[in-house]
Amino acid sequence: MDIRRGIAVSPGVAVGPALVLDTEGVRIHRQVVDAGKVDAEIGRFRDAVDRAAGDARARQKSLTQSLGKEFGDIFLGHALLFEDQLLRAEVEQRIRSQAVNAEYALSRTIRDLVKRLDQSGAGERAARFKADFIDLEKQILGHLIGLEANTLDDEADPLIVLAHDLTPSETALLPTSVLAFATESGGPTSHTAILANAKMIPAVVALGRFAADVSGSDTVIVDGNKGLLILDPDEPTLAWYESQKLAQKALADPLVAFRDMPPITKDGVRITLLGNIEFPSEAALCLDRGAEGVGLYRTEFLYLNKTADPTEEEHYRAYSAVLEATGPNRPVVIRTLDLGADKFSSLSEVISVEKNPFLGLRSVRLCLKNKKLFKTQLRAILRASVDGDVRVMFPMVSTILELRQCRSFLNEVREDLEEEGIPFKADLPIGTMIEVPSAAILADLMAREVDFFSIGTNDLVQYTLAADRNNENVASLYNPADPAVLRLIKTVVDAAARRSVSVNVCGEMSGDPTFTALLVGLGLRQLSATPRKIPELKRVIRLISVADAERVAREALTLETARDVTTLLKDNLRRILPDAVV
Ligand code: PEP
Ligand code: MG
Repeated sequence: MDIRRGIAVSPGVAVGPALVLDTEGVRIHRQVVDAGKVDAEIGRFRDAVDRAAGDARARQKSLTQSLGKEFGDIFLGHALLFEDQLLRAEVEQRIRSQAVNAEYALSRTIRDLVKRLDQSGAGERAARFKADFIDLEKQILGHLIGLEANTLDDEADPLIVLAHDLTPSETALLPTSVLAFATESGGPTSHTAILANAKMIPAVVALGRFAADVSGSDTVIVDGNKGLLILDPDEPTLAWYESQKLAQKALADPLVAFRDMPPITKDGVRITLLGNIEFPSEAALCLDRGAEGVGLYRTEFLYLNKTADPTEEEHYRAYSAVLEATGPNRPVVIRTLDLGADKFSSLSEVISVEKNPFLGLRSVRLCLKNKKLFKTQLRAILRASVDGDVRVMFPMVSTILELRQCRSFLNEVREDLEEEGIPFKADLPIGTMIEVPSAAILADLMAREVDFFSIGTNDLVQYTLAADRNNENVASLYNPADPAVLRLIKTVVDAAARRSVSVNVCGEMSGDPTFTALLVGLGLRQLSATPRKIPELKRVIRLISVADAERVAREALTLETARDVTTLLKDNLRRILPDAVV
């Protein structure tokens, strides 16, 4: 058995026969074209580009229908690139001036572009553009030389796709017969990862070289929860994963019934469950899964697929779309831009490359330094506030002064709108995320400044334990069950209770049923999680009592290590839910 470790980008586990895709591309030869045939060669190139652009627009349409506009727009971006006159002109100029075949001219032009991107030092954004350009090259080559696209069909037997990399187009086209995929390269914020999640296909990327070690039809396991690809699994491992699959399914099917049940504990305490979203189209999904509203709208995703910062109108349209889905009375917590660090670091012009981006000018720090960026968004949020139960929330706040500065920006924007006669809700609730240890420690002071708190455990864990949330080498340190994290959460909940400030948890911890009793026992009455987790959370909440949960929390707070806390919580979950996958 051979266990490879990569980055988990889409949850779930799958066991099945491997299909190894050759995505290394084809060798393109340079061929000289007779002077009299150059125009025909250019015609051949134009025809291939037009057909590829047509494919991209068709893909945009079908993805917009099946997954939503944001996903479709990835391919609108491709279509626009195909239609880009500069790119076309560069290739055509090369065909003409060098009298070479279209395939070679295209390939050289794209390679030069990719090289320029590599040298630009623009990090993540460059990497995404690079993947898109290579995708474009493949699409056009497909038409030029009749390359067999990696087409699989829905009726094929179930299989697991293994590839060096998958382009966004290839991921979008994966049929339902694909149980999961694993790739040698790729990153957690790539379009491929985002599409895998949207299509709910378990996926692991960045595994390093493995293709040479697998043959087609070998049984492999993809564990999208832990980021593993298991080649040549032994019998006990296979049996364990088969049982995980069954447990997941057994849990998923009856869970639908919980969707419509209220999340009330056995002793009658009502818990509010909200959904986390990245795209407006997910707001409907929150309600569909039984959430009462949106507890965290990560607005920085408006920057995904964009070559320029979104305008006020674009912000406003996105917020209106969310409110249209939720209706006027459900809460929608709009978090202001959390750009920087791992989030589209190079998209806004104001973000620069930093040595230590997670400790740098990210998130609200960036907004406070860039009035225009911040005010554009705040204007749109205030304008949208008249259409529903909008609440505004500031991320990554680490000092009281920062929070006050945010409030004063908001006041300036209010005054501007008042002067312009644009309506907004004067008493828009204001909240702060608690995701930096300093904010947790000062929660008593923070509570005087805001209407609500939302604990962002994803960042709180990494900053408390000084363990990068994206670095597998320190993954064993990065643990929400660490006693230091529990103490900070308790500090925040207690401080909030003393000033009657409502408090929510919106990091991944809140979607993990292992932690539900602990969080309720610590005093939380509101959780915001990824929509697909809501039915499962409801089920657990309905099986616990606050009295029991408080006992679990009290005991957890006496423990010294994350391992002991995890054991306690898993034992507790198994006791209340014997079929839980823990
Ligand atoms: C968090 O840090 O827990 C959080 C919800 O914010 P994000 O994951 O977007 O950083
Ligand atoms: Mg965060």
